[in-house]
Amino acid sequence: MSGLVLDHLVKRYGGLTAVHDATLTIPHGRFVCLLGPSGCGKTTLLRMIAGLDDPSEGKILIDGEDITAKPAHQRDFGMVFQSLALFPHLTVGENIAYPLRIRGKSKDEQRAEAERLLKLVRLPGVADRPVSKLSGGQRQRIAIARALALSPRLFLLDEPLSALDAKLREAMQIELKQLQQTLGITTIVVTHDQREAMTMADLVVVMSAGRILQAAPPVEVYRRPANAFVADFIGMTNLLKGKIAAPGRIDVAGGTLSVTDPTPDGGEVILSVRPEEVSVRAVPDAPNLLPGTVTFLRDLGASVELRIDVAGQDIVAVATPQDRPAVKAGDAVHVRFPAEACVVLAS
Ligand code: ATP
Repeated sequence: MSGLVLDHLVKRYGGLTAVHDATLTIPHGRFVCLLGPSGCGKTTLLRMIAGLDDPSEGKILIDGEDITAKPAHQRDFGMVFQSLALFPHLTVGENIAYPLRIRGKSKDEQRAEAERLLKLVRLPGVADRPVSKLSGGQRQRIAIARALALSPRLFLLDEPLSALDAKLREAMQIELKQLQQTLGITTIVVTHDQREAMTMADLVVVMSAGRILQAAPPVEVYRRPANAFVADFIGMTNLLKGKIAAPGRIDVAGGTLSVTDPTPDGGEVILSVRPEEVSVRAVPDAPNLLPGTVTFLRDLGASVELRIDVAGQDIVAVATPQDRPAVKAGDAVHVRFPAEACVVLAS
């Protein structure tokens, strides 16, 4: 099997299982984000892939070769950590060329490679500057350039952008994605920021409590979440508890909704409906409506957000300024949940 294969990986620390049975295949050239809340096991999984932690069980294979017992320095992987770990007493060029120096490459080769990598990360001509004189974003690029110095087989990054301010972080997300597309290198990034994962990844791996809950392209994770945790973690959603009334019909607080998703024969389910799919109207002029009362409305410029109390549940609806409904807080309204936008999840 070509690419990276994680085969039933487990990591235990004493009585705590940090990663449970992680199984995943990552084909070459993918940009993968390991995404989940703090403590869900993302870093532990990345460290096992890097060879910095030994799995308690399971195997790691790359292009069919079992590398589980191979030391980190023999894996040909490039790594960037949150701390960046640059050498403050060395110049930019010396930092980038460091991995080449310890592999015995000549001074000329080191210099040429440092210049090539600096161009790649859009910082040409700074090789002789001390690292300590650079901005946060520039240091980030130097750490990335250094990790790419030996043309690694795999590029691993642990929360690489978390120390940057929001604007710079967004810009770096796009740069990192473009760099990865240029190089075609398989890249795995740990992040707890779902927007960051949606921006960069071809494959989002959502984790919770040590388990992989879903591994899929970003839009699929958003539109077809595997369960209520994923639906809630990725973007905003409305989760409604329901009971199957008939095939394709679900009783929820406040009424009954039709859905196009397949429904189980009976029992309880959860409906996930994204706020941008929910609409609010003053008169009941469409199907799949529930009655409610507007509790709050805010105009955010690019969008309008409404909160509606539907049978005691707080429902969020987002409209464009053009589609803004003519309602205000306190109004009795009808809230539409389009059948095709209701994702049916196990309760
Ligand atoms: P964060 O986003 O906060 O870094 P994470 O998802 O990367 O979280 P991990 O760092 O992988 O989570 O930790 C997963 C679990 O394993 C946590 O409960 C953590 O306390 C525990 N853990 C991690 N490393 C060790 C260790 N060396 N010894 C004992 N427990 C550990």
